[in-house]
Amino acid sequence: MVDLKGQYTKIKDAVDASVLEVLDSTAYINGPKVHEFQKNLENYLGVKHVIPCANGTDALQIAMMGLGLKPGDEVITADFTFAATVEVIALLQLTPVLVDVDPVTFNIDIDAIKKAITPKTKAIVPVHLFGMCANMEAIMEIAEAHNLFVIEDNAQGIGADYTYSDGRKAKSGTIGHVASTSFFPSKNLGCYGDGGAIFTNDDDLAHTIRGIVNHGMYIRYHHDVVGVNSRLDSVQAAILDIKLKNLDDYNKARQAAARKYSEAFKDEDNIVTPSGKEQCDGICDSCDCHVFHQYTLRVLNTDRDALVKHLNDNGIPCGVYYPIPLHRQKAYLDPRYNEADFKVTNQLVKEVISLPMHTELDDEQIAFITATVINFVNS
Ligand SMILES: *Cc1c(COP(=O)(O)O)cnc(C)c1O
Repeated sequence: MVDLKGQYTKIKDAVDASVLEVLDSTAYINGPKVHEFQKNLENYLGVKHVIPCANGTDALQIAMMGLGLKPGDEVITADFTFAATVEVIALLQLTPVLVDVDPVTFNIDIDAIKKAITPKTKAIVPVHLFGMCANMEAIMEIAEAHNLFVIEDNAQGIGADYTYSDGRKAKSGTIGHVASTSFFPSKNLGCYGDGGAIFTNDDDLAHTIRGIVNHGMYIRYHHDVVGVNSRLDSVQAAILDIKLKNLDDYNKARQAAARKYSEAFKDEDNIVTPSGKEQCDGICDSCDCHVFHQYTLRVLNTDRDALVKHLNDNGIPCGVYYPIPLHRQKAYLDPRYNEADFKVTNQLVKEVISLPMHTELDDEQIAFITATVINFVNS
């Protein structure tokens, strides 16, 4: 599914030198590399504050802690996402309210958000699933009208642009009140271990969060709030700082691969290729609205699980993200949920399949993968 070795080989000299520099400096925790990477990522994103932390799940949790959400507060998020999103909501004893997604973008459905709002609702967590921004303009409008916080789960979307209806652009993760991301190795900006970060333009919130990641300390050994220990280590920061310089190229390589996949599938009635914002497939040469963390098809009139097996039998890795909607996971069952409200996720879990997607895919691989998929769906 990913080719981390091929990517590493191309930047090996720079990465190795930078890692050795950290080892030699012995500044393993909170060293200068962490600060450098933080500043460079702030500049790249055009956001005032990046607060590095240990992983993307922590980043989400810390963002919610920073906003002062309290047990019982309702947090609306997408039913079709990785479990981390809902896990931290539940862990903080907030009440997750899962809602359906849009069948074209796979992102949280705007009308479903509106329907789910109650007097207890305090926040919305849009997930920029598979690398494309949720409809942030509509979400911010709803949030403003109802006085809600918006926490962007940007673990899959780093580097993507969101384009407003007036043509303005902003990087994903810089639009809501706060955002989280993950530097897990296979993410679009991945380190060689675990890592994550929180973004915000709010100075006060950034200050609060900087204390929370460090045991609730604002002055050494004065613990004003309950915090956690969540740090990005200097070795990972050194690696990320090099990879950040390549992030736009990496995302372009993903888009180029996506374009080739979609071109090969364009006449297939049983294959729905991923598409971006309305009027835009996200894979034109001039825009970055989709950064293809995953390239995910919907297959119609096809036994999806048999297709998975067929691809695997032919030596092609593939993934099903995600096979079970969160509202049907044992840990997150809620008697208030009604199956009729989850028509889209219930359908998607049966139809989706994600093909290999990374920065090193070549034409021969893409041709083999697409031919194998097309043969199966037409057989
Ligand atoms: C990967 C991911 C996370 C969690 O990130 P970790 O660094 O693995 O903790 C959270 N949300 C989404 C949508 C993800 O894809």
